[in-house]
Amino acid sequence: MRCRRLGKTGEMVSEIGFGGEWLERHAMEESVALMKYAHSLGVNIVDCWMPDPKSRDIIGEAIGEDRAGWLVQGHIGSTYQKGQYTRTRDIQQCRIAFEDLLTRLKTDYIDLGMIHYVDRMDDWETVSRPGPYLDYVMELKAKGQIRHVGLSTHNPVIARMAAESGLVEMLLFSVNPAFDLLPPTDQIENYFADRYAEELRGTDPVRAEMYSVCEKTDVGITCMKPFAGGRLFDGKRSPFGIPLTAVQCIHYALTRPGVASVLCGYDTMEQIDAAVAYETASDSEKDYAGTLVHAPRHSFAGEACTYCGHCRPCPAGIDIAMVNKLYDLAVMQEEVPASLKQHYLALEHFAGECVGCGGCESRCPFGVKVAERMKRTAGLFGR
Ligand code: SF4
Ligand code: SF4
Repeated sequence: MRCRRLGKTGEMVSEIGFGGEWLERHAMEESVALMKYAHSLGVNIVDCWMPDPKSRDIIGEAIGEDRAGWLVQGHIGSTYQKGQYTRTRDIQQCRIAFEDLLTRLKTDYIDLGMIHYVDRMDDWETVSRPGPYLDYVMELKAKGQIRHVGLSTHNPVIARMAAESGLVEMLLFSVNPAFDLLPPTDQIENYFADRYAEELRGTDPVRAEMYSVCEKTDVGITCMKPFAGGRLFDGKRSPFGIPLTAVQCIHYALTRPGVASVLCGYDTMEQIDAAVAYETASDSEKDYAGTLVHAPRHSFAGEACTYCGHCRPCPAGIDIAMVNKLYDLAVMQEEVPASLKQHYLALEHFAGECVGCGGCESRCPFGVKVAERMKRTAGLFGR
């Protein structure tokens, strides 16, 4: 299993992670066995947003023997009241739920302490300004009961503000090509609408910028909802009108700037195998681009690079997807930051080596004018 650095947390997370929300659907032993099976394949990160005792007990049992081998993403503000999940900023309830999390997970720390589910602007203002909620999060950090501060959201505007605020080291964000079509919204139901507006094409610019800001600020992303709740597997329910595979969806998420781990939900060991198969999949199995560009609805065709790598090989040896990613990051800013330039200069081959053969353009499913971009990139970075 390949691991990636989760932004400024410095933690190395497995590319394939474990989203815990389906654990409570099964008998305790079955769910514990699922987690242990995933761990045996190299999965080392689990998200526990769930406040219910059963899910938490399962995770506690599964990670108990190897606590240090797991990174736990636990949420502050996800509480269990009158037998139901309740999201709250009430500090007394947050405290009870967080202490319960530690007890049931049989641990004295949570690796990634998440400011739970902030999709609305007024809520962002509540959690990010000095006050009881933020004080509590910082108290947990100071006591070492959370090792890093993160935030979970589905709203790219909030994600961007959080990354720029310096308050969080990482984000849990919903990433898949269907959600990426949509302009920002604080209504999660909009993501699951039966039909999206006809004119939507490719990645919404607000989202594209959010990913770039995360990479620039070194705020790592763990990804939830990589399959849009399973809709992307079904041509009839997918907004694209065409099915994608688990490996294609995972590759899409892992090629967004800043994304380090994809947290999938699992009911069976076969589903874990299907996700972990990403690690040994061929380039053609991973290729979401070839499918999305021919989708009957909301085709991704356009001139924006999706960093899919479909344009290889380049006779000059240029890593075109990476060069395009660095270019997109650089032009967002008034001046090219030194760290970005350093990253560029560490490449084996530079945009200036492009001989303009056009081979990449004939292979790019999105019609990106690569040779022209290479010239602009060489001008920008000086090589
Ligand atoms: S046009 Fe430039 S970047 Fe594209 S394949 Fe040819 S040499 Fe490589
Ligand atoms: S230039 Fe085209 S093929 Fe190459 S990475 Fe970008 S979108 Fe993909």
